[in-house]
Amino acid sequence: MSKRILTLFAHPDDAETMAGGTLLKWAAEGHAITLCLITDGDKGTADPADTSAAVIARRRAEQARAAARLGADVITLGYEDGMLQPTLDLRRDLVRVMRRVRPDLVVANDPTVWFRHGTYINHPDHRAAGHAAVEALYPAVKKASIFPELIAEGLQPHVVPEVWLGPTGEADTWVDIAGVFEEKVALICEHASQFPPEPTRAAFERMAREVGQERGLALAESFRTLHLRASTVRALAGAPPAS
Ligand SMILES: [Zn+2]
Repeated sequence: MSKRILTLFAHPDDAETMAGGTLLKWAAEGHAITLCLITDGDKGTADPADTSAAVIARRRAEQARAAARLGADVITLGYEDGMLQPTLDLRRDLVRVMRRVRPDLVVANDPTVWFRHGTYINHPDHRAAGHAAVEALYPAVKKASIFPELIAEGLQPHVVPEVWLGPTGEADTWVDIAGVFEEKVALICEHASQFPPEPTRAAFERMAREVGQERGLALAESFRTLHLRASTVRALAGAPPAS
């Protein structure tokens, strides 16, 4: 059965770098993918002569090329890059997107991750985006009385049954991406202003090997997953999904 899959990330390229192999496999299986970008990555330039408008135009064009490889739709929310906070406004905007798209599965950042690989401080926008996404997923998206203005927009509550978070130090799900690794590198490199091909291949191969080693796979992506239900207490009780 074809699923509706929605990614909620801070920047152009976040979905592709974090879950590109998995998204390529889902696209090949015929699932419908929507990429929601909270910012346009407008700080993604090292050239002081670049205007914000020029960076946004460049990155939107790159994102359109990457989305085309996934057959994905793109939604942009227009927040400022580098300044993201998990505000109630952002939570409302993410609830609005989820109630419109009504996904079966959401992919987002794990907001608990501060450091990776001994070389990387997680971008604060990634933590803020993950934080806002998790708070939108529970309980706002499923509760009509939170953000009643969205009901006035005709957007009814929705339960997202499955959530995949990453990158994570608490993985419970591994996806074998060996068969799509070259395609993943090509997907990431559509964001050409950010990712030169050779170090990109080497960096993502290293990360995919490290993740794969945890489960005896050559190359993998890993996730922390949640299986949500309309009634949390029924889910914890192991009751059938009737409510
Ligand atoms: Zn990012």
